[in-house]
Parts: sequence; C-alpha cells; structure tokens
Amino acid sequence: MTPSLWHVVSGAVAARPPLDVAEVEADLLVIGAGFTGLSCALHAATAGLRVVVVEADRIAAGASGRNAGFVVPNFARVDPDAVLARLGPDRGARLVGFAAASADLVFGLIRDHAIACDALQSGWIQPAPTEAAMQAIRARARQWADRGRPVAVLDAGQVAHMTGARGYAGGWIDHSGGVLNPVAYARGLAAAAERAGAVVFEDTPVTSLHAAPGGWIARSGAGSVRAARVVLATNAHIGGLQPAVARSFFPLRVYQIATAPLPAAVRTRLLPGGQCVSDTRRNLFTFRFDANNRLISGGMHILGPGADYRVPRAIHRRLSRLLDLPDLPPLEHAWSGQAAVMPDFLPHLIEPAPGLMAGIACNGRGIAMTTMLGRVLADWAGGVPAADLPVPSGPPAPIPWHGLMRYAPNAHLPLAMLRDALDARGE
Ligand SMILES: Cc1cc2nc3c(=O)[nH]c(=O)nc-3n(C[C@H](O)[C@H](O)[C@H](O)COP(=O)(O)OP(=O)(O)OC[C@H]3O[C@@H](n4cnc5c(N)ncnc54)[C@H](O)[C@@H]3O)c2cc1C
Repeated sequence: MTPSLWHVVSGAVAARPPLDVAEVEADLLVIGAGFTGLSCALHAATAGLRVVVVEADRIAAGASGRNAGFVVPNFARVDPDAVLARLGPDRGARLVGFAAASADLVFGLIRDHAIACDALQSGWIQPAPTEAAMQAIRARARQWADRGRPVAVLDAGQVAHMTGARGYAGGWIDHSGGVLNPVAYARGLAAAAERAGAVVFEDTPVTSLHAAPGGWIARSGAGSVRAARVVLATNAHIGGLQPAVARSFFPLRVYQIATAPLPAAVRTRLLPGGQCVSDTRRNLFTFRFDANNRLISGGMHILGPGADYRVPRAIHRRLSRLLDLPDLPPLEHAWSGQAAVMPDFLPHLIEPAPGLMAGIACNGRGIAMTTMLGRVLADWAGGVPAADLPVPSGPPAPIPWHGLMRYAPNAHLPLAMLRDALDARGE
C-alpha cells in the first residue's frame, strides 16, 4: 500500500527481527502491533506479565499508521444516553466512562513515556452544517457535560473564528481531544512496552492458532509462541485467522490526503488553535494541520476502478470548496486504510474461546478508544473477569450475508451524500 504521510515524515527505523524460535513462552501473546496491541502490551508488561507481541508487517502498518491523527474521546454516531438505553445503566455508564477518559489516557501516556509525536491536546471540534444538526449537537454536548467532560457549545461565529470555515450553524468542542502523528505515537508505545519488558517481533504473521494444554500455541513460519492467553489486536486485518471474528464487523476503506504546506498568512486564518475538526455530515468532512502546516482531510467514496486516483482528488476539491481556498496548495500525499466498524458503532470484546480475546474499538474513531481498549485487554489478561470490564464482551456475532454486506458502508455513500444535500436544501 502507498505509505501514509506519517510513515514518510517519521522516517525509516530498523525492523525488529521476526520470530524464528520454536515454543517461546509467554503469559500473554498479543497479535498485531497497532494501538490496541501496543497499549495492551505496555499495560500488561507494566503489570508484570511476560508479554510477546507479533506483528505480520511493521509497527503501525495497519490503520494505526494510516489514520488522520485526530484524538477523539467519544463514539462515532452514538451519544451517552443512547449507550445507557442499549446496555443498561451500569454497563452503559462504564462504557461511557471508558470513552470519556480515553483522550486523557493517550496524552497522559505521551507525557509519561516522553513520546515525541507532535501531540497537541488542543481539542476536537464538531461543527453542524444545519440548525437541525445543531439541535442534536446541543443534546450531545449536554450529555457529556453532565458527565463532567470539558466540553462547550459553540455558536456560528465561534466556529468560524476557531476553524476558519464559514457557513456552519454552530458546533461543540471537547477540549480533551487533539492531534498527533500516529506513526510516531505507535512507535513510542512500542518502545515503552519494550522498556516495560515486552518483546516485539515484526514481519511475523501468525498463520495458525490452536488451543493447547495451559493456553494457546500460535505459529508463524519456523517460530511459535505458547501463551496462557492471547489477544487478537488485528482489527480489520484479521484475514482468515478467526473467520467468525472477521465476519463480526464491516471493513471500511477510508482515504486521507495531505496538501503541500500552506503559506503562513492562510495558515493563521484556519485553525489558529491547532484543533482537529470533523463535522456532522453523513459524508463526514474533516480537516486539521500537521506540524508542517499541511492540510489533512479524508473521506470515503464509492469504490471501484480508479478509486486510488479519483478519491484523493475528490477530497482535495472538497477541501478547497468547503474552506473557500481556491488556491489550495496541491495534493502531496494520498493514502488509504481499513477500519473495522461494528454494527452498533461501539467498542466490543469478542471471546471466540476461553483464553482468546479480540478487541475492536475502531469504528473509524479509534486512536483514543483503542488505546483505552488495550488497557482493558491487559486487565483481562491479568485475570479481571470479562463481566467486570467496562467494554461489553461475548462470542463472535457474525453479520448475516457478510460476503455481500461487507461492502455496505462504502456502497451506502451516495445515499448519505443525497441526504446531506437534502438536509442543507431543507434549511
Ligand atoms: C484512513 C483512516 C483514518 C482514520 N482516522 C482516524 C482518526 O483521525 N482518529 C481516530 O481516532 N481514528 C481514526 N481511524 C481509526 C484508527 O486508525 C483505528 O481505530 C486504530 O488505528 C485501530 O488500531 P488497532 O490496533 O485496533 O488496529 P490496526 O492498527 O489496524 O492494527 C492491526 C495490526 O494487526 C496486524 N495483523 C493482522 N493480522 C495479523 C496476523 N495474523 N499476525 C500478526 N499480525 C497481524 C496488522 O498487520 C496490523 O498492524 C482511522 C482509520 C482509517 C483507516
């Protein structure tokens, strides 16, 4: 796949050697070195477990190295009251608390482990293009404020002043959110996990996983690991390793672009506070700057022939139009990645068999949530019963007709765009 902006600006680093030894012993085997796996490894090793991490490719090869670097401490599309209505007051409140604390965990880890990743806890802004969307925003902000979160409703003038984008009816900000360079963050988590005693192998795809006396055996080429517990932190890249888990989520391809750096005069008009922005459109519009004043945006599109060429250019045109920047610098980086989206848009623990747990908290909004999920998975590996964890768990729940349904999120886009247009015209 095309390297992301973050892989390019973070530079090459020496690879950890692959696992080529038979029967390495561990308390916990973590499969996948994205934020979920690395945070799990760091927290489990810090708690004293013998941890081995195996990564099929390189650290942050998956969604963790291919996202936009927005740190967002809430669920995509689901508000706290709805979570409580779905899960009940106790489990619901624990899951809402999990999300609420997630961005603070990310920035706390960055501080504690001195991770150099251009992190700014500058806030995350969600503007609303219509008055109807603004009503939902007011309710959303109130629900998070009632739970003590550092949030504020913004009027149209405040959104225009803080973002430089005109035409929004208003919005809200969660001050605990922010931005970072995700590849540098993942590499920093890996180094911190290793300092805590974890061992990380790269270029080590697990090809088979079997229950064995006292736990599990995972094999990769000539190497194998015997571990009491296994965490599958493979997200949308699970392949055929656990087919029932693979059928439990929608794989969603998302594109990102970065322009050439903007001139200083334009840069100061847009996002002077350095926040990140994702609006409430169904066809989400997002933007932020990187540390070198490149504008970053993303989006989905109907896939098909030429998507890798077509979609980045469509995102660049939209960025120019919605930010009223006819002279937007040219597109300099374009990349895409795979997100795993659960049918209810909430984080889940999936337990295919005793001692084997998969964690999915991606839902396209996962830097904060997967870091927090890694900590929860470490608690599970350390012996906390699944029922006492803040994230719902259960056996895999395969989506019916998954072979066809897996294309639904991308195929749904034209309808989403039509409904966005009708909403705007309605006002
Ligand atoms: C384009 C894009 C933009 C996004 N933007 C944002 C954003 O701005 N903010 C935000 O909060 N979230 C965003 N997300 C979501 C976020 O990136 C993910 O939620 C998060 O990175 C998921 O982390 P993870 O560790 O669960 O999975 P991943 O990072 O996908 O890691 C899974 C790893 O498992 C490895 N693996 C798979 N199978 C095996 C195997 N058999 N053996 C060994 N290793 C294996 C893979 O190689 C991979 O490295 C975005 C996602 C995409 C795709």
